[in-house]
Amino acid sequence: MPDKPMCSDEVYDSFGFDHNYSCTRHGTVFEDGKWWCKQHSPSGVKAREEKSARYHDERARQRHEKWAQERERERHANCFDDLVAALEQWHYQVHGLELDFEKCKDPRCVLASKAKEPITDY
Ligand SMILES: [Zn+2]
Ligand SMILES: [Zn+2]
Repeated sequence: MPDKPMCSDEVYDSFGFDHNYSCTRHGTVFEDGKWWCKQHSPSGVKAREEKSARYHDERARQRHEKWAQERERERHANCFDDLVAALEQWHYQVHGLELDFEKCKDPRCVLASKAKEPITDY
């Protein structure tokens, strides 16, 4: 029994299984009946995997949130023209004139006419 145990992990390099070599660090953690360096101990590997999984979960959540926001914008854009048309119809029925905030000072009319204003400062 050597006085300083070595890590039990085998590290595979990028060439594959033929070139594997043992981890050269000393074993400082005793788990599952073997010595491991801190990085390769089963609990250390598990902790790193969990950390990585949390990171990926968070990234997935952010991606989903962004996707949901885009879908929501799309949904708004798709019904916008119909909404403006409905507002114009409502306005004509109620105030008997075209939607125009220059003529109509009712806050609802100002709001509604803003919705149909085209962008002019490209
Ligand atoms: Zn190791
Ligand atoms: Zn009005």
